[in-house]
This record gives sequence, C-alpha cells and structure tokens, in this order.
Amino acid sequence: MTRRLSRRAEIPVLDKGFVRLVDAMGDDAAVVLAARVSYAGGLKGEEQDRKLIHFLLRHQHMTPFEHAIFKFHCKTPIFVMRQWIRHRAGSFNEKSARYAEAVDEFYFPDKWRAPATANKQASRENGRIDSPLADRLLRDNCRQSYAAYQNLLRAGVAREMARMALPVNLYTEFYWTVNARNLMHFINLRADAAAQWEIQKYAEALAELFKARMPWTWEAFRLLAWTGKNAEVDGQSSPT
Ligand SMILES: Cc1cc2nc3c(=O)[nH]c(=O)nc-3n(C[C@H](O)[C@H](O)[C@H](O)COP(=O)(O)OP(=O)(O)OC[C@H]3O[C@@H](n4cnc5c(N)ncnc54)[C@H](O)[C@@H]3O)c2cc1C
Repeated sequence: MTRRLSRRAEIPVLDKGFVRLVDAMGDDAAVVLAARVSYAGGLKGEEQDRKLIHFLLRHQHMTPFEHAIFKFHCKTPIFVMRQWIRHRAGSFNEKSARYAEAVDEFYFPDKWRAPATANKQASRENGRIDSPLADRLLRDNCRQSYAAYQNLLRAGVAREMARMALPVNLYTEFYWTVNARNLMHFINLRADAAAQWEIQKYAEALAELFKARMPWTWEAFRLLAWTGKNAEVDGQSSPT
C-alpha cells in the first residue's frame, strides 16, 4: 500500500542537503503492541499506553522500539556521511560515483569556525577568521578539483578513479533505514554539542520527523533518555 506522506516529510539541511522520510512502518502503537505481546495484551487507551512507553524507556526495555522502522532519503556532504555510516545499526544504500558522473554540488558553510580551545576535535564560532579568504580558498579548491575530475574523464579515466580528485564537501545521497531504538541512539550522539555542527543539523531534522511520527515516544525520550546538551528541536532545549 502506498502511503501519502505530508509535506513536512522533507526537511532542508545545510545549503543544499535534506532529510526526507520516504516510508515508515509502525509508530507508538507498534511499540505498545510489541511490549504487550508477551501476555497477549493490546492497546489500552492513550493514558495507559503513554505510561507504558515511559516505563519502557525509563527501564531501558528497548526492544519494543525496534518494531517501528523509518526509511530516510538523505543528501549530505561526503564528510557528514562518513560520520553517519559509523552507526552500524541501520541499512545504507548510496548513490554510486562509479555508475554516474558526480554532479558539481558542494557544501559551502555560512560561517567559519575556529578550533575549540578545550576539545581538540571540536570548533567554536567566535574565533578570528578571515572569512572572505576562507570562502575564496574553498570555492577555488572546489572549482579546480571539479575541473581536474572532468579533465580526467575526458582523458579516458574511469569514473571510479577520476573521483579521487573530488573533495569531501561534495554532496552525496543515500537511503538509510533504521529502527526507532537506533534512531534515538543516533539523535543522542549526533544532536549533541560534542558532535560536528553539520551532522547536528541532520540529527535535528531527523528528530523533527521522528517526533511527528512517534509523539509519545519522542516525549518519553526527551524526558528520560535524551542526553543532548545543546540540540534544539522546535525551539526547546534538552531538559537535562
Ligand atoms: C562526538 C563523536 C566523536 C567521535 N569521534 C570519533 C573518532 O575520532 N574516531 C572514530 O573512529 N569514531 C568516532 N566517533 C564514532 C563513534 O566511535 C561510533 O562509531 C559512532 O558514534 C556510532 O556509535 P555506536 O557504535 O554506538 O552505534 P552503532 O554502530 O549504530 O551501534 C549501536 C549499538 O549497537 C551495539 N553494537 C554495534 N556493533 C557492535 C559490536 N561490533 N560489538 C558490540 N556492540 C555493538 C552497541 O551497543 C552500539 O552502541 C565519534 C562519534 C561521536 C558522536
């Protein structure tokens, strides 16, 4: 059966990326039914079912959340996807740069960040950076890299080798299928101040789609399992 998804199902992220909910199976009710199958119980009305979801999350009975599945279509810079695919508990299929010629779509940040002072792998916004110079350096590099890529193709080199000339801010696209349990895990780790700002934006978009589809689980997650330090979804920051 084809389900019509609302217009909210696609959220733009960064300058050219997006996260789109392609399909979903199961919702809050699926979690409740999976939890109660052990004693042949069914749905018991909003109050009791909501309470059960809170109970499950509070006591980390997480397997019922594996019965709600999301399929997302994502468009991200390659360096973001490289962090994303570290999350092994999900299924990926990516657009092939061996099969099709790469399109010259690159991520260009609005703001440049300086290295953080306390954390060696993080960044901060209020550093002294010559932004016009940084913009020019990145744009020139992308232009030259893409020209080299096309020249390699013209010289008869295979796409799978010519792509070695391309930088990691090139956009790629992929499908990601993940269950609610692992989606919450991803949101916890990546909609967090410790994660790179660019992947935080994707995690926040995923959180919006998750919240729209599973509002009771989202509510319980925020209250009981959310460890994010700075992520903002719908203008609310973490309660912890
Ligand atoms: C802020 C931040 C910084 C990071 N920095 C680095 C870095 O510098 N270098 C780097 O390499 N990575 C880095 N990572 C990636 C990180 O190490 C994890 O690979 C990534 O966050 C995925 O987490 P996960 O393994 O819990 O998730 P998943 O792979 O989705 O796994 C989900 C859960 O399943 C279980 N699981 C999955 N596979 C196994 C297994 N083989 N054995 C046992 N249990 C398993 C675990 O309980 C796991 O938490 C960073 C991540 C974050 C959020």
